[in-house]
Amino acid sequence: MDPVEVAAAPDAGPGPAWQSKCPWGAPNTTSISCSLADVMSEQLAKELQLEEENAAFPEVVAVAEGPFITGENIDTSSDLMLAQMLQMEFDREYDAQLRREEKKINGDSKVSISFENYRKVHPYDSDSSEDEVDWQDTRHDPYRADKPTTTPRKGFIGKGKDITTKHDEVVCGRKNTARMENFAPEFQVGDGIGMDLKLSNQVFNALKQHAYSEERRSARLHEKKEHSTAEKAVDPKTRLLLYKMVNAGMLETITGCISTGKESVVFHAYGGKSATEDKVIPPECAIKVFKTTLNEFKNRDKYIKDDYRFKDRFSKLNPRKIIRMWAEKEMHNLTRMQTAGIPCPQVVSLKKHVLVMSFIGKDQVPAPKLKDVTLSGEDMKKAYYQILNMMQQLYKECNLVHADLSEYNMLWHDGKVWLIDVSQSVEPTHPHGLEFLFRDCRNVSQFFQKGGVAEALNERELFNAVSGLNITADNEVDFQAEIEALEKMNEDHVQNHGKKLSMFSSDGDPPIYDE
Ligand code: ADP
Ligand code: MN
Repeated sequence: MDPVEVAAAPDAGPGPAWQSKCPWGAPNTTSISCSLADVMSEQLAKELQLEEENAAFPEVVAVAEGPFITGENIDTSSDLMLAQMLQMEFDREYDAQLRREEKKINGDSKVSISFENYRKVHPYDSDSSEDEVDWQDTRHDPYRADKPTTTPRKGFIGKGKDITTKHDEVVCGRKNTARMENFAPEFQVGDGIGMDLKLSNQVFNALKQHAYSEERRSARLHEKKEHSTAEKAVDPKTRLLLYKMVNAGMLETITGCISTGKESVVFHAYGGKSATEDKVIPPECAIKVFKTTLNEFKNRDKYIKDDYRFKDRFSKLNPRKIIRMWAEKEMHNLTRMQTAGIPCPQVVSLKKHVLVMSFIGKDQVPAPKLKDVTLSGEDMKKAYYQILNMMQQLYKECNLVHADLSEYNMLWHDGKVWLIDVSQSVEPTHPHGLEFLFRDCRNVSQFFQKGGVAEALNERELFNAVSGLNITADNEVDFQAEIEALEKMNEDHVQNHGKKLSMFSSDGDPPIYDE
């Protein structure tokens, strides 16, 4: 608090009390007030708001002014709130001091000591609030129109005396109580969940804060002790996510690693019980963990950066969130494929960068990739026609191009081909969508021509068969040029008219080239 203010003369002319305290006479009315509460809220409300918006639970994420503490409704008159805010500020100052000391001691010595463990606000804590946003909770496909939200803009539901606002104390209280279920399994919440308890937002927020910091503390403590093989492949945050899945009963056990790729690690797990009755967890699951080491993803930027479904969000996101978008993208794409009846893994759950899906294979043995099986001539032909069909379905019904289709991403299981690995799949109108499709066609054609399927179309024929476009060039170079010209035309159209050409879109009929 500013000592000058406290010492101010009590009789300094007319105006509001705070104005009259100013020792330099009456300030103009636009000057800023300076009570403790105001200083605190100015400094921290923004941070708190950000933190809360990110950390708050699903429905709150969607509605910016949820029942949680935000910049607007922050209650600085509450002692508890003020105390917490002060504490936070003190902790930060303490840390800053520690850092200075650390620097002083270390100087430019080659061997340095660290005060990391003495810090109050751990970097692991401070940056993890953004992690609380969970794509599971924004399950809608960003491509499709949004469903109306449950609490309308006006902020209330119902009529007359039955009106219920989103701030309704009883409703909020019950919701808050139910939300305690989301706390870590080891966090003791008593029998509250089963009773008709109504927790105020303030109490709930305090509890939640505590639950989270306990959770993180415990994760930190155990970080160095766990060393099982499955766990070694992933970072502590991911481990915590997996641990929670097992703890929640969704997974029975995680048995081990099936694949370690550049961009992902895939685990096998036995499915557990579902929390809701309408959803069945497959007996065996595959867990795809998208790697959070960023450099691996750099060369794949173009797939997601230019995907207009994600365009708005891309620019605002940090790299960790972008990686989550890969997982989210794979989920949406798999869901579309599932709807079209294309054999592919079924989505079970998505938590941040961890996607759980059904396991293609049996008894922990994953189905072989097409490149690893030797099929009879008959099966080879069968597989070819099935893939031709799937590519058309993918394009026409799912409005997708796989974009990494090859014998590496097709599994042979139960006498048919299953498509996997669709995180990079894009819509045909993606600025490079048609080029990706052409590459897919080249891979497929070459594989089956080499594999002795006489009926296999060449890559250009296959491209036309899948897209319904009628590109006539009879050599690779010209064909490619025509594809790029089409893409460019589409982009120009987007620039000028704000929407895509209808030529690649598919409403059942073969697309017509109309401009
Ligand atoms: P990457 O981007 O690392 O290629 P993939 O999705 O292709 O990721 O998965 C890597 C490997 O893991 C696959 O080649 C396959 O062998 C295995 N795999 C992935 N998903 C499944 C699944 N649902 N069922 C069985 N095996 C799977
Ligand atoms: Mn793959």
